[in-house]
Amino acid sequence: MKTIGLIGGMSWESTVTYYCLINEAVKEKMGGLHSAKILLYSVDFAEIEEYQAKGEWDKSAEVLAQAAVSLEKAGADFIVICTNTMHKVVPQIQKQIRIPIIHIAQAAASVLKEQGICRVGLLGTKYTMTQEFYKSKLIEAGIEVLIPNDTDIEIVNNIIYGELCLGMIREESRKEYIRIIDQMMADGAQGVILGCTEIGLLIKQEHTELPVFDTTQIHAAKAAELSMDSNM
Ligand code: GLU
Repeated sequence: MKTIGLIGGMSWESTVTYYCLINEAVKEKMGGLHSAKILLYSVDFAEIEEYQAKGEWDKSAEVLAQAAVSLEKAGADFIVICTNTMHKVVPQIQKQIRIPIIHIAQAAASVLKEQGICRVGLLGTKYTMTQEFYKSKLIEAGIEVLIPNDTDIEIVNNIIYGELCLGMIREESRKEYIRIIDQMMADGAQGVILGCTEIGLLIKQEHTELPVFDTTQIHAAKAAELSMDSNM
């Protein structure tokens, strides 16, 4: 089995989910007492969030690159960054390591393609929804991306940083997300990407008719699959 290098802590609320999902997938496939080989480097999210807010992406890239270098030295076969937003700095991180980074948006795009989805709503942080680093991976795969209006972008973003990353799950916030997802459906979306690794704590398939693509589940499943792939 390959060793997975997780860069987590962004926030740790969702890193817990990755850890559980990867181990469950390995147990399911291999049975018995099998569990995943995982190295976890968990950062201090307050430091990362401050760099994001100040637009100091190079500094956050350096913190994550150091984490990736440590994981490579410790024996990781590939890297999984447990946040959508920080995929913005994947090119800077990849330059400093030889092992591959499994890209969350590419993993999501593959699943969407398999299911024949060509128009999708995207929920995530304001960086993920409005900047090109993430949407470009979907567009390259031939998928059209819908994002909320400016007011709703702020609402979605504030709930992520002010509640979900702190482990707060509020019914009023779930209603806001459902309202925004309903609007995407009315605008012709065939599915919605939960493009922030904490959104799955708030929104599950049972909350909407629109097919939900939870990037935490997709990314964790991909990591587990690769860890058991002898050709990797
Ligand atoms: N976990 C979130 C994401 O998937 C947000 C936290 C962050 O800014 O990294 O984008």
